[in-house]
Amino acid sequence: MAFCGVCGEKAGIGKTVCNSCQQQLAAEREVELANRRAEEREAFEAHVTEALQAWASSASTLIGAGSAPTVYKSVYVTIDSVVTGSPVADFDMSLVQAAGLQGWKVEGIIPRTEGIGLTNVSYGSSSGETWGAGIGGNVVRAYVIMSRKMTGTGDESDEIAFDLARELLEAGYDI
Ligand SMILES: [Zn+2]
Repeated sequence: MAFCGVCGEKAGIGKTVCNSCQQQLAAEREVELANRRAEEREAFEAHVTEALQAWASSASTLIGAGSAPTVYKSVYVTIDSVVTGSPVADFDMSLVQAAGLQGWKVEGIIPRTEGIGLTNVSYGSSSGETWGAGIGGNVVRAYVIMSRKMTGTGDESDEIAFDLARELLEAGYDI
């Protein structure tokens, strides 16, 4: 019979720690781990706050120098591309128009393409559907990249930029 290395009571065959001490140790480890996680979380939040302040200060320097930081976003628009004879969607740029009225400017467009597999259907002795050919690279929708400059007046542009900066820093990006 082995004895517990912690409390000295009987520990059971082949054991160096008794069951109750083992549970106690596991609970302590759990608390330690939770504390460490909380500490890491706190340190990360402090880092984000500090980096956000540093960014805000460099942003205001840039605005002063005439090269204001830019906020980008993308708007997803549908296009009336015709694929295999029928349009996939209606052309709709309402989101771009709405953003334009809020001061956003179009910077570029990234098409979203779709490949469509064609099949052959045959009837008769060997009925069924078999893959024939595929067509790829049809533009079916587009991401419109839009931008808006910071003004340094604390207006909506600045608020959007600030929120985005915090979001990026929290996601681990350097700005
Ligand atoms: Zn024990």
